[in-house]
Amino acid sequence: MDNGLPIRLVIHGGAGAISRSKLTAERELAYRQTLAESLTVGHAVLQAGGSSVDAVIAAIVVMEDSPLFNAGKGAVFTHAGRNELDASIMEGATRLAGAIAGVTTIRNPIRAAHAVMTKSTHVMLIGHGAEAFAAEQGLEIVDPTYFYTQHRWDQLQKAIAKDRIMLDHDNDSDTPLSDEDQKRGTVGAVALDRYGNLAAGTSTGGLTNKRYGRVGDSPIIGAGTYADNRSVAVSATGTGEMFIRTAAAFNTAAQARLLNTPIADAADNTLAEIAAIGGDGGLIVLDALGHYATRFNTQGMYCGTIGNDGTVWTGIFPGELNG
Ligand code: ASP
Repeated sequence: MDNGLPIRLVIHGGAGAISRSKLTAERELAYRQTLAESLTVGHAVLQAGGSSVDAVIAAIVVMEDSPLFNAGKGAVFTHAGRNELDASIMEGATRLAGAIAGVTTIRNPIRAAHAVMTKSTHVMLIGHGAEAFAAEQGLEIVDPTYFYTQHRWDQLQKAIAKDRIMLDHDNDSDTPLSDEDQKRGTVGAVALDRYGNLAAGTSTGGLTNKRYGRVGDSPIIGAGTYADNRSVAVSATGTGEMFIRTAAAFNTAAQARLLNTPIADAADNTLAEIAAIGGDGGLIVLDALGHYATRFNTQGMYCGTIGNDGTVWTGIFPGELNG
């Protein structure tokens, strides 16, 4: 089905201190293959005339199900040795939104965020309540051990030994962390469907060694995720606290809508504000004409895009993707 109008999907799998020299060819291939699978699956939804919301969910579920990314299977551990997951989704046509935070048993948090958006009158549910709601909606509930991966467990032990919350992005020389330790991978997607509708979604395990029910930007509408057909769809990854303080996703969308700022510049302006208060990360941005930007102020960001012609583009390092 092709009505000649643009369709596009842009995804990210986290931004951070990804060093070219330390990323082995094997691991790079694994990341690129999973990004490509996510793009292909999401594109099939758009190509078949599906909605941008459904394409975002399909693309994110692939990354949630992969142990490579810090979302779903592969999520990082809290100080208490749990996996507490956050996710959000937003539809640009209606500005309906849904989010969940601090859940431990929902296999695909992005599906739960979508259920909140479509099946409840609320925007955000947390903890046990969110889990009960997801179960009622027939979503797949798993034992918390489903989220266990050895490398994330080892990361937690190192973080506890260093007594620090590991921002996946940290690259402090006084606390050297291996690439494995610094593996980041919050995931997100933005999509434009054949009907001109935008959507955005984000899913994460948050930060290794987080405590006290800490929640970052990913499930917060306007911080980690935003979509508005009048401007853009945005998904963020980075030092969540600073993305909340700068209302990063809404900030970027507001520049595009109110100031007509080109989308790459809008993203860069937001990232500059974040840098000014000590944060870093990346943003993917997509407008209703299919123009997109993948911007980051870290060494790298796992990302990719696919449009009408179905060609898969993946990128990790600066300059690899056009946007
Ligand atoms: N933004 C996420 C958080 O702060 C982490 C990340 O993007 O890696 O929870």
